[in-house]
Amino acid sequence: MVKKIVSDSENEDKHKLDDPKSLGELVVTEGATVKDFAELVKKNPSDIIKRLISLGEMVTINQPLSNEAINVLAEELGYELKIVSPVEETAPEVKETLEDLEPRPPVVTVMGHVDHGKTSLLDGIRKTNVIASEAGGITQHIGAYQVIKNNKKITFIDTPGHEAFTAMRARGAKVTDIAVLVVAADDGVMPQTIEAIDHAHAAKVPIIVAINKIDKPEANPEKIKQQLTEYGLVSEEWGGDTIFVEISAKLGTNIDDLLEMILITAELQELKASCKATTKGFVIEAKLDKGRGPVATVLIQQGTLKVGDSIISGVVNGKVRALTNDQGNPVEEATPSMPVEVIGFSSVPHAGDEIKVVADEKVARQKAEERALKLRIIEGGREKKLSLEDLFQKIQEGELQELNLIIKADVQGSVEALRDSFNKLDQSEVKINIIHQGAGAISETDVMLAAASNAIIIGFNVRPAPKARELARKEKVDIRTYRVIYQVIEDINAARIGLLKPEYEEILLGRAEVRAIFKITKVGTIAGTFVQDGEINLDAKARLIRDGVVVYDGLIHSLRRFKEDVSVVKSGFECGIGLENFNDVKEGDIIETYKIIEKPRV
Ligand code: GDP
Repeated sequence: MVKKIVSDSENEDKHKLDDPKSLGELVVTEGATVKDFAELVKKNPSDIIKRLISLGEMVTINQPLSNEAINVLAEELGYELKIVSPVEETAPEVKETLEDLEPRPPVVTVMGHVDHGKTSLLDGIRKTNVIASEAGGITQHIGAYQVIKNNKKITFIDTPGHEAFTAMRARGAKVTDIAVLVVAADDGVMPQTIEAIDHAHAAKVPIIVAINKIDKPEANPEKIKQQLTEYGLVSEEWGGDTIFVEISAKLGTNIDDLLEMILITAELQELKASCKATTKGFVIEAKLDKGRGPVATVLIQQGTLKVGDSIISGVVNGKVRALTNDQGNPVEEATPSMPVEVIGFSSVPHAGDEIKVVADEKVARQKAEERALKLRIIEGGREKKLSLEDLFQKIQEGELQELNLIIKADVQGSVEALRDSFNKLDQSEVKINIIHQGAGAISETDVMLAAASNAIIIGFNVRPAPKARELARKEKVDIRTYRVIYQVIEDINAARIGLLKPEYEEILLGRAEVRAIFKITKVGTIAGTFVQDGEINLDAKARLIRDGVVVYDGLIHSLRRFKEDVSVVKSGFECGIGLENFNDVKEGDIIETYKIIEKPRV
């Protein structure tokens, strides 16, 4: 956290604490604790504390120092001080400025029902329009490719379907600008067509409809247009604003028209990015290559990624050793919306994670480590994405004015019944959005959509498939299953009203100070504590506070006095506390226990 860059303190006489002679530059990370600072300047922490007390600042060893305190101490010790922020040590972020903004190519995802021709379309587009390559048209599948139409570039994501699209979005990646919805003219609107529409809508991505397979004698494009009106996609000729293109992916018919429509839609969006801003993008594919090590395909959103750049993505750091474009050719740099394969990551990053260029390798490594640590700390107490219970809080904090729901039911009739009931609820203050509905089990795709859109899944007479349940647990998605309609409505209504006037209140139950740490194999870390106030209750919720900051919020999984499991420990007694999925307890931490009670509404 804290480090010294230049110092001749190795030769320093330890007894001459206040020698005014300059000891060199001292780089201190903002938020350094007394302990960190003492180590850095090779002093006894208690001397630092004593000095601060005499200056009127009461601190404990693990408490972060204020910048003023660091200033005074460094000056007294004869250092030239440099205080840096915890992560961006040397390179402040360059924001996009209006002057630097330049048009960037749109990024397009192809969606639709299975066998309607998504892959054929992507292959067709690539074949007819690949940017002339010296390698003689050898196409590389790197996860995305670019084509040129009317001297303008268009980027296509090479993995068709809304599943990949939403999985990326659930990780925070908003990559796609336009969705091309492929519907086979000889088949019609199918379940995955509807899913694709809902997923694109949830992401607020405009849809262009490609009616495919018009070469087939039984093709009936008019039927498709008719069917799609039910889902809000009305063609321009019928007074709507959705672009429809009739194509044959197989024969290449009207592919050019489709590309042109993509460009028109992109123009309306005024997609712009700056090549000069701090480089950021998203990993869209990543793998471990036998010969080359970790390889990731990256789509840059702003800035320019160059060979030699130090990078970080999630908890993975690296230095760009080589960049390869979608033609398989080495390139020196990648600009916004240009897909490139990046070699140089220390391990395989996650698809959907952001990639960012940082000042140097040291910063990249440090930042990756910090993120890994943070991740470990929050993993146990990781906040639910959104549960019915905590809705009101979000609304109150102004974070949420809409409640997103996904409805799955046993039969279409129940779906409709639920939908109608929701529509009847008062929505003046909190709008209920049914972002997706359908008959059938709750699938992994539903969970992904919920995770990406902060939605709650309502299952009526259906259960999640085991894989979906597992994913929901991982993604912290709230799945509610019911067997009676009025209970669904009652719950949603209660949550909705709760949103407006909180009907829950937190009651603090007890407070214990951590005085010793015990690491027990297979069990984890147990905090040896002294109960200062109230009582510690095994059933209560608990949070761990370090220097006033909540570092964990969750549950107690074990409570012991001596060797006995107990359910309550009162103030004035010592006890061992184990927190659920959390081991990073330190001496001096405070464990607070509390419960949330329902307040009677007036
Ligand atoms: P995906 O599952 O949506 O990716 O669909 P594919 O691209 O794999 O296509 C499914 C099938 O439809 C394949 O047998 C294709 O050859 C066929 N197909 C795709 N596009 C067309 C088309 O425009 N015309 C005809 N006749 N067949 C097509």
